[in-house]
Amino acid sequence: MNSIGIDLGTTNSVACTIQHGHFEYLKFSGKDLLPSAILYTKGKMTVGAAAKRKAILNADNFISSAKTYMGDHKQTWSIDDKIFTPTDVAAEVLKEIFKSARKFFNNDDEIQAVITVPAQFSFDQIAETKKAGKIAGFNVKQVLAEPIAAAIAYSFENTKPKEKIYVVDLGGGTFDVALLESRGKNFYQTLMKDGDRTLGGDDFDKAVANLIMRELRKTIGVDLSTKEKSGLNANEYSKTLQKLYNEAEKIKCALSNSETEPVDIINFFPYQNGLYDLHMTITRDEFLAEAAPYVRKIENVIRRSFEDTNFSEEDVDRVILVGGSANMPFVRNCVKKFFDKEPYSNMDLSKLVAMGAAIMADDELSNGIEKHDIISHSFGIEVLDNRMEKMLQQNDEYPCENTEIFYTVKDYQDSVEIRAYEGENTEDVSQNRYIGGFVLKDIERAPAGKEIEIRFSFDESCILHVMAKDPKRPNVYMEIDLDPTFEQQRSDDEKVKPYDIVLLLDNSGSMWNSLDTAKDACQKLISEMIDTSIHRVAFATFETNVHLHSHLTNNQQQLINAINSVEVGGSTNMTDAFEIAYQEISRRKAEPLVIIVTDGMPDNSSTTTNKAEQLKRDGVKISAIGAGKVDHQYLASLASSPQDYYQIIDMNGLADAFKNIVNGLRL
Ligand code: AMP
Repeated sequence: MNSIGIDLGTTNSVACTIQHGHFEYLKFSGKDLLPSAILYTKGKMTVGAAAKRKAILNADNFISSAKTYMGDHKQTWSIDDKIFTPTDVAAEVLKEIFKSARKFFNNDDEIQAVITVPAQFSFDQIAETKKAGKIAGFNVKQVLAEPIAAAIAYSFENTKPKEKIYVVDLGGGTFDVALLESRGKNFYQTLMKDGDRTLGGDDFDKAVANLIMRELRKTIGVDLSTKEKSGLNANEYSKTLQKLYNEAEKIKCALSNSETEPVDIINFFPYQNGLYDLHMTITRDEFLAEAAPYVRKIENVIRRSFEDTNFSEEDVDRVILVGGSANMPFVRNCVKKFFDKEPYSNMDLSKLVAMGAAIMADDELSNGIEKHDIISHSFGIEVLDNRMEKMLQQNDEYPCENTEIFYTVKDYQDSVEIRAYEGENTEDVSQNRYIGGFVLKDIERAPAGKEIEIRFSFDESCILHVMAKDPKRPNVYMEIDLDPTFEQQRSDDEKVKPYDIVLLLDNSGSMWNSLDTAKDACQKLISEMIDTSIHRVAFATFETNVHLHSHLTNNQQQLINAINSVEVGGSTNMTDAFEIAYQEISRRKAEPLVIIVTDGMPDNSSTTTNKAEQLKRDGVKISAIGAGKVDHQYLASLASSPQDYYQIIDMNGLADAFKNIVNGLRL
């Protein structure tokens, strides 16, 4: 099994694998770090160091530090004809890692990956990270909090029976702290976490850039703070800023090792009919004075992290520094002063997180490792007056669950809508993140104040399960899994729900020469069109006999195998096909859909009609697909509406019909 740990950083990413007990790093242009940056020009994608190099000439085609915006659905970059979301950028960076991993492993086996995320990442941001990993081609085993990864890597080399470890992780765009307890190599419990999503190495680049800009204003009166003030055109201005920030980062890193650094930027920008060459020096003290607000922020976050907790700095046995920016000497000094102990930094700060992820990605090494993490943000449901009632609290250790009774607000209402949110604002739910919901139908009609039971549970894989039921009607029960990879749930405009789908395929004798084409289309439906991590699918075939090959499941491989096994049979027993769909859909947890595919007429059309009607009365949507010379009018009557009927010439059109269904329902 190929396994890899990936620290998907804001500025740089690191990928590590364990081979014969040794940590090995994937190489990107000969280096262990891959800059998390992309450049898209003329339909061509460049990732990493090459993208950064070319950015000077193509600044508008360049995207970096996209992780800062992960999960922000309003943030996009438009380059040429393409729109990039933060997830798209992450996926491109991960694709580059995937390519390098393929080369490294030199086989076609699946690559199992553990990808790390900042401890403060929300449900949504975790979701987008997982999704990016999947798009890149990885089998994402889990998403791991960066401080836990760092603690695992540290304990791997420095095993202690019991230790409280405080992790200070200052990367390119995020600042995280966490207190963990480790017991030996196999037990890690997060006790608290805090951080600042908007603070990181990029801010310190800005501090250096500010010093350079100040020098330019003073010496030649050029102000680069805005395009207008600079007097440069858009293209010149963005190239100039690119050069400025590239140089600023270099100077910042150099100042970690020296007290004074020369700054030389040749051909910086157009100036007086030529190009301006900048020469100046920056001292560490000047840099620190400029960066003072960020330094204060770091100190505040560390101090704040102990407030409202049962822990103090004296409880901490070991402080670990993590992240490239923790190389700056003042970070070490400020941590040392606060904890009154020397922080541990014997290992490469930029690699610790990837090392921990590599350990967790390796099935053998991770076997027996117990991680107890805590929820970063509370979960709750929307209640009257746009308020939120919390069901699971921030910092609750998970897996965890909570059940509460809520009350209807209208007399004789026959359904209730459950809307789940993540966040801390109980007074105004709109300030929190909507993460999904559903409608519980057919509750007992009663005066307002009728009890509805709701349970939230958060499992080890970071999936939130929401259940609602009418305590008076055991059948009125619904549960959905809010796996954060369910992207549509997070759209503010369209609240698409997960579906439970029963696919019924005609395998009667008349299908003898088209069954393989139909099976191909069914497999495409399962593997390419429907996200089976969101929707569950059951699969049945019908000829004289009806055969349920798979119950409702998220297991894509099981469904593919089931479709593979189908052979041509006898007549067309559509009545029993609908009956089996009826039975299967009665176990539903999500919106019900039956898709029936046939090239013939039922053995008994009136009983078939009755069964279809029964399903529709039960709120099940039926999409029907009829192929060839059949009574299309009759088959259309089985569908939920004329729009839910798809007439195709033969089974070659089946995949397109599926596509129309999937697009129509936004599955
Ligand atoms: P990471 O995402 O952990 O690789 O951190 C990347 C950030 O660390 C970037 O902002 C780098 O500029 C910064 N960084 C890396 N090495 C150093 C160094 N020696 N001194 C200061 N900052 C550094």
